[in-house]
Amino acid sequence: MRFLITGGAGFIGSHLTRFLISEGHKVLVLDNFSTGSPGNLNSEPGTPAPEVVDGSACDRKLVDECTGRVDAVFHLAAAVGTFTIARRTIESLRTNLLGTEAVVEAACEHRIPLLLSSTSEVYGLNPKPGLTEEDDRILGSPPHSRWSYAEAKSVDETIARAHAVEHGLDVVIARLFNTVGPGQSGEYGMVIPRFARQALAGEPLTVFGDGSQIRCFCHVLDVVPALVALLRDREARGQVFNVGGSEPVRIEQLARRVVEITGSPGGIVHVPYDAFFEPGYRDTPSRIPDCSKARARIGFRPSRDLDEIIRSVVADQRAHVVSGS
Ligand code: UDP
Repeated sequence: MRFLITGGAGFIGSHLTRFLISEGHKVLVLDNFSTGSPGNLNSEPGTPAPEVVDGSACDRKLVDECTGRVDAVFHLAAAVGTFTIARRTIESLRTNLLGTEAVVEAACEHRIPLLLSSTSEVYGLNPKPGLTEEDDRILGSPPHSRWSYAEAKSVDETIARAHAVEHGLDVVIARLFNTVGPGQSGEYGMVIPRFARQALAGEPLTVFGDGSQIRCFCHVLDVVPALVALLRDREARGQVFNVGGSEPVRIEQLARRVVEITGSPGGIVHVPYDAFFEPGYRDTPSRIPDCSKARARIGFRPSRDLDEIIRSVVADQRAHVVSGS
């Protein structure tokens, strides 16, 4: 089959590109290289390369042309990372709203299936352990740019669902919870690559706040096959699925584990949120998914535990330090 992956040069997109190519499919990558990089798409010798189009998912004409050449679309292009959302709020909103609108309309027009990647961020401050797809969103006040990512992604989900209901679009929505692994950059805020890089440099790991906030990390190599299975499953169409890990960890505990694994002499430092974000920033205290819906539908069960995740990111960061990239 021929697949379009918007954001195919990004962290998750490039793993998905490699996975689909390894299964013998043809991949068309549409990426504007804002946070993605051509280096992410380096293929193994002897493996076919994807076709790459350098452009924006907000370019409706380009999206329409690309969509017209494929059998299905994975829409992963998005402004990501808490630093990006906080510092480039307008551009992030535009990318996340207009890009999705363009892709949804093109998939609808060409009558091909679409997987829309969404985020656990849509649950906002809802602290329920084991968030299910029907749980409520609890968001802070709109002037805090922090919520703009959740707002945009929630609207994206609504746009996609409405096209399914009103125009028969074949769409499935995956809400990703803290996907992590080799190739992810710490530059935009993501905690494990940041901790790994800090530890390898012998610097203190910057735990934001008191470190009591809880996350469930999931290895990208567990996430990617789930995205493919969801797009392939006709019964999944029109539905939303949580995709995330099963091992909740406090960020303070995570930092200690990274220090242990790397043997870093730098230790840990607690940093107030104000040092990185606007005053009044509220972090999500807990974000733990219930993935039983994805398990029942596609047999989703992450196989890599937190230690394996940390080790794979540390090895990746070490390779970057050695290569100077
Ligand atoms: N975090 C941290 N130190 C860092 C980067 C992030 O303590 O240097 C925390 C962040 O405040 C959040 C958690 O780690 O509580 C996960 O952050 P990330 O940006 O990876 O994902 P989020 O769950 O916030 O989308």
